[in-house]
Amino acid sequence: MNIIILIALVVVIVYWFIHQRRIATQAPNPPPNPIPIENLLREHIPFYHKLNAEHKNSFQQRVMHFLQHTRFTNVGAARHTLLDEVYIASAAIIPLFAFPDWEYRNIREILLYEGNFDHDYTVDGHSNPIMGMVGDGALNGTMLLSLDALRDGFARKDGSNTAIHEFVHLIDKADGSVDGVPEYLIPKSLIAPWLKHIRASIQDIHEGDSDINPYGATNEAEFLAVISEYFFEKPDKFNEEHPHLYRMMNDIFSHRPQKATD
Ligand SMILES: [Zn+2]
Repeated sequence: MNIIILIALVVVIVYWFIHQRRIATQAPNPPPNPIPIENLLREHIPFYHKLNAEHKNSFQQRVMHFLQHTRFTNVGAARHTLLDEVYIASAAIIPLFAFPDWEYRNIREILLYEGNFDHDYTVDGHSNPIMGMVGDGALNGTMLLSLDALRDGFARKDGSNTAIHEFVHLIDKADGSVDGVPEYLIPKSLIAPWLKHIRASIQDIHEGDSDINPYGATNEAEFLAVISEYFFEKPDKFNEEHPHLYRMMNDIFSHRPQKATD
């Protein structure tokens, strides 16, 4: 091998090793002030609002833990606020609220874009179809989110929520593959009936016989992410329209609608 190529290769490997160590030893952020966090949760997160006092406290603790261990980076002209961080942390905790011991091990940084972005990660104001994505390859451990889409998802409360969608992809990815089967959560006996039901539901979307966002018909992984938005944002309507899917989602996420008692 040419000696120059060999030296270049060694330099790249050493750089990569140092970079990985820096990521592994990333210091946590300072602890967030609980008072503004609690106020923002109360005012802007309907899921939190429905919890009883004990669960509210637990939700807030987990949101603060997430904020302390995740870096939020503005890209280009994007400028995020504390409310945006609370939106993102809430979207991380909502799908896993029934699993108090779960900690995300596959996310360390959120890259925030002002608006939707392209496949080459630029925002040019023309055709930017991507609202959010889970990073892969060199972007492993990151999530990319459009601030416009993030804020819309929580403001509209219409059963679509980009941040919840992306965190469900991360949960799905935790077992090594993004395939619509979150193996750490789903009971083994449910996997075959789950896949069968997903495929039938995707067929219903193709035939125009479903109120589920047609993007869910892309594949099994997108189906799981899309119906999770619907399930966690509008559980009663989801149950009315899709009782069988609703029961399966309850079994996967061990989710029971909470009634406020305080
Ligand atoms: Zn997706």
